Amino acid sequence: MAIERTFLMVKPDGVKRQVVGDIIDRFERRGFVMRGAKLMNVPRELAEKHYEEHKDKPFFGELVDFITSGPVFAMVWEGENIIKLARVMMGATKPEEAQPGTIRGDYAVTISENVIHGSDSPASAEREINLWFNNEIV
Ligand code: GDP
Ligand code: MG
Repeated sequence: MAIERTFLMVKPDGVKRQVVGDIIDRFERRGFVMRGAKLMNVPRELAEKHYEEHKDKPFFGELVDFITSGPVFAMVWEGENIIKLARVMMGATKPEEAQPGTIRGDYAVTISENVIHGSDSPASAEREINLWFNNEIV
């Protein structure tokens, strides 16, 4: 298994609730390495590009409104098999399927305000790292 990089983002609800530190701690304790991080407001155009796979879904407008509603904490993390492992650490998208012990299972009760985003494949990770970090990563 190769060393991979993935894009993770604490969404506006997670930043407001001050769980950024806990989320960083979970990935550091697992042995992953942070390669980029920034607290930022999200321009609408960036949010729409980020979520373009969902542009025809009924919740797309609500999703973009939410991601642009307050600062997010965007990150790039590195490690063995991190793309899949970060998804496991995040927990399922549907709140009733997010296991306790996962980030969503510990913090989220709705599908729309679910604390964290993580890339779902190597192709998404590459696309999202380029979109959010361009060449700013260390
Ligand atoms: P993720 O990769 O686990 O974040 O899930 P998806 O890529 O399927 O969806 C992106 C985000 O859209 C999710 O994290 C949710 O916040 C939101 N979302 C997904 N499905 C729904 C839905 O049915 N209703 C609403 N309101 N939001 C949704
Ligand atoms: Mg997704």
